[in-house]
Formats: sequence, C-alpha cells, structure tokens
Amino acid sequence: MMKKQVDICSASGMSRRDFVVGTTAAALAAVPLSALPQGADGHGGPVVVTTWDFGPGANAVAWPILQKGGLAIDAVEAAINHVELLPDEFYVGFGGSPNSIGETTLDAMIMWGPTHDVGSVGCLKRVKRAISVARKVMEKTQHTLIVGDDATRFAVAMGFEETSLSNLASQKAWEEWIAKGEKSTAWDPERIGEGRKPEGHDTTGTMAVDTHGNVCVGCSTNGRSYKLPGRVGDSPITGAGAYCDNEVGAAIATGDGDVMMRFLPTYHTVELMRAGASPEEAARAAIKRITGKGYSFDGGIVALNRKGEHGAVKQGWEDTAFSYSVKNGSGAEKLPVKKA
Ligand code: ASP
Repeated sequence: MMKKQVDICSASGMSRRDFVVGTTAAALAAVPLSALPQGADGHGGPVVVTTWDFGPGANAVAWPILQKGGLAIDAVEAAINHVELLPDEFYVGFGGSPNSIGETTLDAMIMWGPTHDVGSVGCLKRVKRAISVARKVMEKTQHTLIVGDDATRFAVAMGFEETSLSNLASQKAWEEWIAKGEKSTAWDPERIGEGRKPEGHDTTGTMAVDTHGNVCVGCSTNGRSYKLPGRVGDSPITGAGAYCDNEVGAAIATGDGDVMMRFLPTYHTVELMRAGASPEEAARAAIKRITGKGYSFDGGIVALNRKGEHGAVKQGWEDTAFSYSVKNGSGAEKLPVKKA
C-alpha cells in the first residue's frame, strides 16, 4: 500500500503530503463540508487532547483549525509548535533540559492516521520546531526517523533556521549541575524494582480527531535532563512515545522513556482499545504490563478513541500533578490523572 502510494507520488512529482491531502480534498470535494454530519461514521471529531499543563494553551491553538474543518495533522502540529516555542518552558523545545555536556537536543514524532504514516526526529540539534521537522520527514521522504546532526542537516535543507537551543535558563541549570560535581544518573546500572528518579522531563503530546474523522497524534520533548549525549528517548519511537490508528484512536506516553519504550505502551493501549477497552482501561493495562515486569517508574499514558472518549492513568509521580486537557464541541476541561 505504501509502495503504491509512493509510486503514485514520485510518478506525478507529488510528495506524500500532497497525495494525502489531495486525496482527502478530492474525496471531500464531492460533498460540501456543510452537508457532512459530524461523526457521520461514528467518529467524535472535532476533539483535541494535550498532555500536562501545556494542554489548555495548546488546545486553544488547535481548536480553531479543527472547528473550521481543518485537518487533524495541522491542528496537532500547530498545538505542539505553540509549546515548543514557549520561551520559559524548560522541558519542551529550546532553552531547557541540557544533556550532560550542556546541550539541549530534541525528540519529536508525528503520526497521521489516514495513511498510517510517521515522521520522527531524534536528538535533533540546533533547530527549534522539532515537530515540523518530523512532519517534513514524513511528507518529503520515504524514511520514518532521522537523528542527530544529520537531522539538523535535513532540517536546514528543508528551510529551517539553524540556531542555538540553549538560553540562560538551560546554561544556568547545566553550570549549577556541573558545579555540584554530579555525574548523570543515566550511568547508574538498571536495578529492576528499585525506584528510578531520573532528572526532570516532560513531553507535550497532542492528539486530535478532525471533522472528517481523521486521527492524528504528535509529541515533542527535549528529553531527560543531563542525559548522555546522543540519548534518544521514547517520544520519536512509533508505538512508544505515541501511536494512532485511524480506525481506533490514539495514545501518548510521557515519563521515564528509557523504561517505557521497552514496552511500546501506546501501541499496546491503542490495540486494547481496538479490542473494546475504554481509553482509561487500555492505558491502565499498558502501564500494568510495565509494572508487572517489576519496574518502578514515573510515567503516564493518555488515550483518545475515535468516538472522542478519553482517559489517562499514571504510575509514580507521587508529588507531581499530572493532568491532560480536552477541547471539543461541548467545551474545554483540564483533568487530573489518577494512579493506575
Ligand atoms: N518520555 C520523555 C523522555 O523520556 C520525557 C517525558 O515525557 O517526561 O524523553
């Protein structure tokens, strides 16, 4: 299916994105948008869900796009760009979470339900809008994941500005950490069952169903603070940091990616929803799969099904208020997340 799609694109000089949007537009051209009853095929769009305290702001950026009949992929990218470019946000985008040599690097992924297509970047350096670079990987190449300085080279070739990802906050954090003489917690050998407390980290993740029933998910983070240079977390790994299936829904993971990525918990969550579990039940079972192997960690999973139902659970984070936010036709909510 993908081969056929790529062939069609290359034969006509179209990109994957032109093909996807063109197909959507062609299908819609036959039916005026106003004549499309919302949720005609049982979907619950438009709806958008975002992790953490970024939620209300990110959803407010996504919502006008969805409300006007725009594509979920545009809403997800815009919501995540909004968080990536916040000047004081330490755990997403530039100016935060330096690695052990003082550099901020970014991981991001976008997954588009209608074609089950993915673009990701890992350990992206010196380029701010990681989710947009990930989207270029999806739209302009046959690849799924590009990493490191080569991801930077790719981004620059796509027209992105190369610039420092450090600011005063990230520099100060790194200098203070170095002054304490600490080594990265990442050097501690894995001890299953013992509580892991990696330095601070968060991921902004947004998922949406649009008025046409298209599902999209994306996520972006600067990863774990004081990580070893070259570390790539769970966020750009399909089925780990995020996953969607147009027939089912989407899920996003946040937390200790070094552990969580070993279990592909967002793939697991979506597959359980496919089998009939509610979003919360599915997220709980995916978290329990990890704790069932003896891992003690901090993390959470947020899920949204195609019908617009949502739910989330967390593990650990005893002193951390993990929340997610929803915006749909009935209003906006920010919801605290319960323990699994
Ligand atoms: N999962 C991210 C990582 O490990 C960080 C987070 O979401 O807290 O890179």
